[in-house]
Amino acid sequence: MIARVKLSSGREIVGFATKNVYGGAWDVGPTWNYLVTGDRLLLIDTGRRGMGKPLLEMIETASFAPGDLEYVVLSHGHEDHDGGLSELVGQVDVQAYAHQVYGMLNRVEPTMAPAPDKAEIPAACWHCPMPAWFAQKFCPEYHKDRKGLDVLPLGNLQHPFDSGIRVFHVPGHSPDALAILVDDEAILVGDTILPDITPHPTREQFFELTKGMLSAAYVEAQQLYGLRAYIRSLKTLKNLASQQDSSMVLPGHRLFYRAQWNQLDLADRVDELLAHHIQRCSDILDLLKNGPCTAEDISRDHFEPNLLEGFGINMAINEILSHCELMEITGDVASVNKSQFVATGTRQFESFITEFS
Ligand SMILES: [Zn+2]
Ligand SMILES: [Zn+2]
Repeated sequence: MIARVKLSSGREIVGFATKNVYGGAWDVGPTWNYLVTGDRLLLIDTGRRGMGKPLLEMIETASFAPGDLEYVVLSHGHEDHDGGLSELVGQVDVQAYAHQVYGMLNRVEPTMAPAPDKAEIPAACWHCPMPAWFAQKFCPEYHKDRKGLDVLPLGNLQHPFDSGIRVFHVPGHSPDALAILVDDEAILVGDTILPDITPHPTREQFFELTKGMLSAAYVEAQQLYGLRAYIRSLKTLKNLASQQDSSMVLPGHRLFYRAQWNQLDLADRVDELLAHHIQRCSDILDLLKNGPCTAEDISRDHFEPNLLEGFGINMAINEILSHCELMEITGDVASVNKSQFVATGTRQFESFITEFS
């Protein structure tokens, strides 16, 4: 599926949907990759592994010459966005870019890996919440391809693209997540903002696993990981929205989903996502009134049964842990016996989420 948008600047953005494998109750739908026209053609994201060639074919169908592609930018280092890159660079001569953290975590370091089965995989995948069977089934070839990629680092607002393009670091869903503002008219948000669904946050705890791989500029977990980083990024985007008359939001998934186009107002969607996280924290505290619970106990109570099937339980536990982590910081939750959480009786999380920036 192809979607074309013409900006009043005269520039065109063309969206290409590529297939994903995930399915099930946590399905995010196809990945939306975007071609941005200009003096040079810029492609944002490459779909999952195997999608490099189909994406080039779609680009051709949309009447562009794949050979004219100059740059690829990865919105973040998840397989459904960078998996197609290795095939793509095998077909056309393009230079790939990503946030500098992408490259720092796209290295193998057996001595720092958190478990023997992670010794040969890129550090970016050390904290993947998916179960081992999933990784064994879908990821070995991806890990192999990824390690060989030549991806140059982008700093915040520093890039080789034309002056209508602005790049923002928006970590939280992923430590290397970027948002790309085009001519102050359209914003490509990767998975940081999605229609219908709330992007999965990382956890600050992941920083402990990867900090040995990061540069000295990253001293605190919340610079890159967890709900605090995510909330700050949402507010960065809301602040950007307040500087534009309107900007079209082009998300990494669900631009079109189940026979429907999803148009978002950036500021409104940020408010909805913040409200969602406040509600989830509130629900967790309500459950903890009944006594100490593990993240799994909370997940089984909080989520619909279909969301707990298969690897769904891993996704659910990751969600709950990222919220409990934030509420440990605000003092509303304490951990006991290593794996259980208790409510302390305070409810600071709401003002914290509202005021944090
Ligand atoms: Zn993602
Ligand atoms: Zn994604």
